[in-house]
Order: sequence, then C-alpha cells, then structure tokens
Amino acid sequence: MIRWTIMINHDFEEFRNTFVHILAYGYKDNTYKFALARFLLDYCKNIHFDILVKKIKNDERYIIHYDEIASAFLKYYWHQEFRYRIKQNSHNEKPPSVIKILRNTFGDQYIPEDFSRYIKYENKKVAIAKQQIMKKVFGNARSKTSLVIPRFQKIRIGTKAILKNIFYDYDDDKQCIYLSPLGAYFINQNYTFLFKTMILEWSKYLEKINTFPRLIAKIETDESRRRSLTHYITIFEDAKHCFYCNGQLRRPSTHVDHFIPWSYIFDDNAWNLVLSCQECNCKKSNSLSQYKFLDYLIERNSKYENKIPILKKSLNELDFGHGWRPEIRKHYSNCKEYGFLQIQM
Ligand SMILES: [Zn+2]
Repeated sequence: MIRWTIMINHDFEEFRNTFVHILAYGYKDNTYKFALARFLLDYCKNIHFDILVKKIKNDERYIIHYDEIASAFLKYYWHQEFRYRIKQNSHNEKPPSVIKILRNTFGDQYIPEDFSRYIKYENKKVAIAKQQIMKKVFGNARSKTSLVIPRFQKIRIGTKAILKNIFYDYDDDKQCIYLSPLGAYFINQNYTFLFKTMILEWSKYLEKINTFPRLIAKIETDESRRRSLTHYITIFEDAKHCFYCNGQLRRPSTHVDHFIPWSYIFDDNAWNLVLSCQECNCKKSNSLSQYKFLDYLIERNSKYENKIPILKKSLNELDFGHGWRPEIRKHYSNCKEYGFLQIQM
C-alpha cells in the first residue's frame, strides 16, 4: 500500500527536471558528472524495494562511501580507455586525472580482457589505481575540476548557479554521500529513461572529440558482447589459406579475424572479417597488421563483392557516395591514430 501512497503524495517532477538538467546543461570540465550519474543509476537499480520503502517511511538515508564511487569510476573509465580508447577531453597531453591514473598504473597498452576478469589477477594494481582515484578525484588532493561530488547538483537558472541537494547531501570529512530515499526511489523507478538520457548526453559530449564508429554503443556497454563468428568460415569457404601467413587452413583451427580490431569497429561487418590460422589470429589479437594487408583486404573484398551477398551488403553500408575503398582506408588510419598497435605479421 505504501507504494501507492508515495507515488500520489510526492511530486517527482523536480527530481526529473534536475537530473536531466545536470546531464544536459550542467557545467562540465570533463565527463565526471556523467560517471557519477551512472554510479547513482547503477546503485539505485540494485536496491531492495522493501528496504527502500522502509527507508522512505523512516526518512532514513543511504550512506555511500566515496570508496564505492571510486571503484565504479575505475570500472567505467577502464573500459573506455583500455578497450575503446575513447578520449575524455580535447587535450591529448592533459587528460582528466582519472585517465592519467589509469595510464600510470596499467600502462598505455590495449587490454583485451573484461575488467571483471582482469581484476582477478591484477588486483594489486587495481587497488593502487583506486587509492589514487580516491585521493585525486574524491579526496584532499583533488583538483578544481575534480569537485564532482559538491558540484554535481549545481544547476544554472538564467545567470545564477543554484545548488539543489535533492538527491544527496555529502560529508567530505567522512567521505560519504547521504542519498535521499525518495531520490533513490525516483531513480529506481525511472531507471531506463534516465540511463538512456545519461548515455545520450555522455555520447554527445564525447562525439565532438572522438570520430570513431559506434561511440554510443561503446559508452553504453561496459563488458564485451562478442558473438560467434564461425558461420563466416563457410561464407568465405573459398579462402583455403590464412590471410596473413598464407598457410593452409584446416578446420577446426581456422579462425575468423577482425582485420581492423573489433574494439575499434565494434561490429562484425563481413568486409572486415578474414580467415586466419590460429597462430596468426593469436599473434595479431587486437592490433593492426602492416599496410600491405590493407591492400590485400581491399583486393579480397573487390574479388568477392558480387559473389557473397552478406559481404556486398556490408560494403554498401560503408559507402557514403565515394565508394567503400576510401572508407576502409580511413578506418584503418583512424584506428592507428587512436593508439592501436601496428604489428608485423
Ligand atoms: Zn597464419
């Protein structure tokens, strides 16, 4: 019964307007406000409904330590940096502190594993990075641009900036936020709408400084969603030799390789798939091969364009009026520019 009482008695309009306002119009030096919004969404999505109702009844707040928020930041930015190379601001030499911390701790190489798997064997590094984030983004050593907790709820009305602590209060000394149970209820009940808004606004902010394909999908997901590609072995059945070493292909050790790395293209387009032996596939992993193979790929696609319908379809999708060939070359050079390694096959 209490559920209906809450819904009737409370006007959630202000929660909705403030949340959307923060995402769409809040002042931003970097993307921390989006990350904090994502944290609040993740947190409220998983809360137990009966406990939430009890908290509302007793006007009792959720106490969330900065530590927990720092862990979430680490996970969000880890994926965007190591898996997708998404730039978080336009200064290449001055990335936000969270990115600097990640690079200092984990290096600047591409890391193919999912974060949840990676932390199992690199938990020491993860602990160091988290400690640094606590200090530089949420702690005493934070810079002006890292004041995300105090500034998150500041909204501009006309020329005035107004602080609206309607979702949480905070205590910097105790390093925690006190989340309003009504705010948590609102986020929980409007999760899908708010999540989509957050992803949309985060992507809008980043699309000005990133030009690679499928930006929104990369920001939305934080684990990989790779599908099985084995049916391409039969689609490209004419290929009897490894695309890279020219060795004879023998099933079941025939692999389907993303010529331009999957984490850059983020799709299984037939034009980008080649058959390779196990050795070459493992060696190449998520790197780029040298230029001559780019010419081979274009040759391969030209040869089979009119023979394989699924290939033709994927090439048509690439073509924006100047043919698909320059688009493939552009993807290759952009991918390299984004820091993907080029290796000798
Ligand atoms: Zn090979």
